[in-house]
Amino acid sequence: MRIFASTPFYLQGPGAMAKVGEVAGRTGTKSLIVIDALVRPLVGAALEASFAGPVSIVEFAGEVTDANVANVVSQTPDADVIVAVGGGKALDAGKAVALKLGVPVISVPTIASTDGPASRGIAMYDDAHRLTRVDQMLANPAAVIVDTAVIAGAPVRFLRAGVGDAIAKKFEGEGCWAGGGHTKHGTRPTHSARAIADAAYRMLRAHAVEGVAAAARHEVTEDLEATIEASVLLSAMGFENGGLSIAHSTTRGLMTLRAAKDRLHGEHVAYGTLVQLAVDRRPRTEIIDLAEFLRAVGLPATLRDLGVDDLNDNDLDGIAAAIMASPHIGNVANALTHADVVAALRTVETLTPA
Ligand SMILES: [Zn+2]
Repeated sequence: MRIFASTPFYLQGPGAMAKVGEVAGRTGTKSLIVIDALVRPLVGAALEASFAGPVSIVEFAGEVTDANVANVVSQTPDADVIVAVGGGKALDAGKAVALKLGVPVISVPTIASTDGPASRGIAMYDDAHRLTRVDQMLANPAAVIVDTAVIAGAPVRFLRAGVGDAIAKKFEGEGCWAGGGHTKHGTRPTHSARAIADAAYRMLRAHAVEGVAAAARHEVTEDLEATIEASVLLSAMGFENGGLSIAHSTTRGLMTLRAAKDRLHGEHVAYGTLVQLAVDRRPRTEIIDLAEFLRAVGLPATLRDLGVDDLNDNDLDGIAAAIMASPHIGNVANALTHADVVAALRTVETLTPA
């Protein structure tokens, strides 16, 4: 059995913020906007002006905890569509409110740092900022609206991370396919997801260096549009329906390193993609080629790039142990041992000198 699920409506372009009210009006009759408190001064006016009449707004700040989500729910229990606006935390808060109320969510990312906006997942935390669980909405967001002028106005590091999160999906999907793994639906990967992840990879190879450069100049270009579409839409469709593998397992390993743990998720995944290529025993030229691309985008290609200056055997063992404990560890063509993973980490470190 196979399942393909994705967001049914995707709108992207400069000025897309002006369409949010219209799309929300097609989805429900009483919208609640959940917006990142820091983002509201930047996009709040355009957002509110897109609605025909008055609209409820809750500013979200802090962590995505059960208590904070319940607090938002208690303020407007009769909302029938949630419009989540901001970065990862505000989008997850909006999704969690929608899940609790049993209503659809419209996702309006103001940065493009992960595949989160179009996905069903919600990362839930405790008050000490520890990830406690990942909830899943019953369906993907009813719409995803990406104002590319807003994305181009954000710090470019976020978009770089989005490229890192997306570039992995082709290789992870191939690993999940080959290893007999399952997607988050609990079913085998689809052919469509593989084709989509492949397209995302090719789009990023063709456009991401120029797209990121345009974002750094705060300019919207066709290269930037392609980079954002691959990072937000295709990346989510690819991983939810194609599965994950070693690149995302590696993020668990990097969380064990004090120097690297606070880097952005997509920066972790970028490096993890090279670990994936190494455990897959791809040709060294292919690993070096991807490492050079990542560096051209401004992404890390080694542990040293991630800030680890004094790498030792204990660190490598710790990273490898966390990778081996990942739920995606079986999603590879040939079963891996701890020693295989340590060898792959060493390969990446030595093949791609700074
Ligand atoms: Zn990811």
